[in-house]
Amino acid sequence: MKTLLIYHTDSYAREMDAQVLEVRGNGVVLDRTVFYFTSGGQPCDFGKLVAEDGSEYAVTDVKKDNGEVLHILDKAPAFSAGAKVHGIIDWVRRYKLMRMHTASHVLATVMHNNRALITGNQIGTGETRFDFSMDEFDRDLFAKRIEEANGKLAEGLDISVSTMEREEAMKIPGIVKLANALPPALTELRIVAIGDFDIQADGGTHVKNTREVGKIVLQKLENKGKSNRRLYFSLEPAE
Ligand SMILES: [Zn+2]
Repeated sequence: MKTLLIYHTDSYAREMDAQVLEVRGNGVVLDRTVFYFTSGGQPCDFGKLVAEDGSEYAVTDVKKDNGEVLHILDKAPAFSAGAKVHGIIDWVRRYKLMRMHTASHVLATVMHNNRALITGNQIGTGETRFDFSMDEFDRDLFAKRIEEANGKLAEGLDISVSTMEREEAMKIPGIVKLANALPPALTELRIVAIGDFDIQADGGTHVKNTREVGKIVLQKLENKGKSNRRLYFSLEPAE
């Protein structure tokens, strides 16, 4: 990948100056970016790119394409490789996704510690969805787990990001909590730790302290068959 992912070390960066490396139709590859590309259950950022002549392009999608991060614009750009652009993300959207992502890790760990296998996770701005494999379908039990997660969030745990050799990281129990979510074949993994409560290999953006998340509110529970349980939650405050 040619692009430096600024959010891997600074998830609070909202703007960047970058150089255009490549234009593919409406898609642009940059040398560095604050735009998160859709991955790991977290949807991409939206925002805009401003060209040197002041013309603006809405960024409507950000995705990995042939190994590169492609910023999809609302129209084909008038600039080409070598041009300079200024990028700005929709911070309201991103910050919500950061709070949701940190909330997801805390809830996932509470569930994991209670031997529920997480089989899927889709982070959203309004609601986040979790799929679990567990035999019982007990609403009181889910309510209890969420209460437990909220207790952890209220402790005000700091979130730290580091990198670790893959071999070392994979020895840590619970470093991968999502079934079938083995991290990519990299020699170094990005590690996100929430206090000493949770440590996970993760590429997502997180808040600095769990107090920023607020509270998890259970929205809906669904019984999806023999041992599949689906849960939707929102956050309080919503903004
Ligand atoms: Zn994550």
